[in-house]
Amino acid sequence: MTGILFIVSAPSGAGKTTLVRALLRNDSAIRLSVSYTTRAPREGEVDGVAYNFVSQARFEAMRDAGEFLEWAEVHGNFYATSRPWLQQQLAKGQDVLLEIDWQGAEQVRKQFDEPVSIFIMPPSFAVLETRLRGRGTDSQEVIERRLSAARDEMRRVTEFDYAIINNDLQEALSDLRVVVRAARLRTTQTRARNPEVFVDNLGQ
Ligand code: 5GP
Repeated sequence: MTGILFIVSAPSGAGKTTLVRALLRNDSAIRLSVSYTTRAPREGEVDGVAYNFVSQARFEAMRDAGEFLEWAEVHGNFYATSRPWLQQQLAKGQDVLLEIDWQGAEQVRKQFDEPVSIFIMPPSFAVLETRLRGRGTDSQEVIERRLSAARDEMRRVTEFDYAIINNDLQEALSDLRVVVRAARLRTTQTRARNPEVFVDNLGQ
């Protein structure tokens, strides 16, 4: 049996990280993939937990060695998902969640049959702007760059299976849980998780 691959994307400031953290707190069956990045750590970000922080040279060496399932340049920094780690987890039947951008999602869709992709949107562009400015962890220049990229990122929403509007955190969280639950109820998954029920009911 193979685990389910969830992809969650959003423009910065849509509340993706908070939502994903809240989901994982109550769902120990999903493991979060820790990406590699060349971005400098923000205050409070621990190496190996938030990201694996690596130099540009190391990133390029890993990329050239085929260690990344997907990689992308986002807002001037490089990000990537580890290929061996992900394959290992899915092969064990472990569900995995990737918090990656639309470029990464596009590459993953080409390599996996049934990833479940979810796009988180703010309730309006004005709310996104307020959230980004209020975060206080990024410089003015970074905020401006992210705002101008947000429109383009948001236009990619149609490529995703599900779109969740994050107006109220609790409501968005419950929407996200419904998507996860529905994915686990796909016939292939129900069968893999309950083979005895299928054998019994189908008389095989
Ligand atoms: P941040 O620097 O704010 O943590 O993340 C910036 C953007 O990079 C977000 O849109 C995030 O989803 C994306 N990102 C994080 N990790 C990966 C990854 O492994 N691959 C790709 N393609 N994007 C990523």
